[in-house]
Amino acid sequence: MGKKIYELPELEYGYKDLEPYISEEQLKIHHTIHHQGYVTGANALLEKFDKRDQNIEFDVKAVAKELSFHVGGFMLHKLFWENMGPASKCGGEPQGTLAKYIEKDFGSFERFKNEFTQAANSVEGSGWAALTLCRGTDRLFIMQIEKHNVNVIPNFRILMVLDVWEHAYYIDYKNVRPDFVDAFWKIVNWEEVNKRTETWLNSP
Ligand code: MN
Repeated sequence: MGKKIYELPELEYGYKDLEPYISEEQLKIHHTIHHQGYVTGANALLEKFDKRDQNIEFDVKAVAKELSFHVGGFMLHKLFWENMGPASKCGGEPQGTLAKYIEKDFGSFERFKNEFTQAANSVEGSGWAALTLCRGTDRLFIMQIEKHNVNVIPNFRILMVLDVWEHAYYIDYKNVRPDFVDAFWKIVNWEEVNKRTETWLNSP
């Protein structure tokens, strides 16, 4: 039986299609260099697991930490690409179930947008802002994920992420993260985020 490994997913749009909010050069480097880096890192760890010598002690602590970083990075980028799209079809405000849940848990879309923006702008160092659904309470929460793996809460399903590592925006926005965060709202694929919300609400 062959073992599966991680593979870089293809984008559902072209590298130019998020312009002018994310440039072709920025998106291409982010996808083919940075995201690929986590694929390579995760697969190198899988190889370590596969090749561990049965007679030699294995540094489980170090490997487990690295694994959460690389697999976290891999998964978050995959979600990130999918929750964006060309501005001609994206941006604006969500509809349907997600809109109702935002209203229920934040009071208004504006309030949600402000809180998410604040979360993204205030991540210390490298990390992510994430909209999540707690399956214990079916409430929406905004989370700040540090690096790719810190602050993640089990059973909080991730509905939307925004990468605020500097590698996500330095070509287009230099060090001005808030401008990148403002641009993100123009290219959010709400249909996809709404679909994720409904999928998790309807799953056991
Ligand atoms: Mn990234």
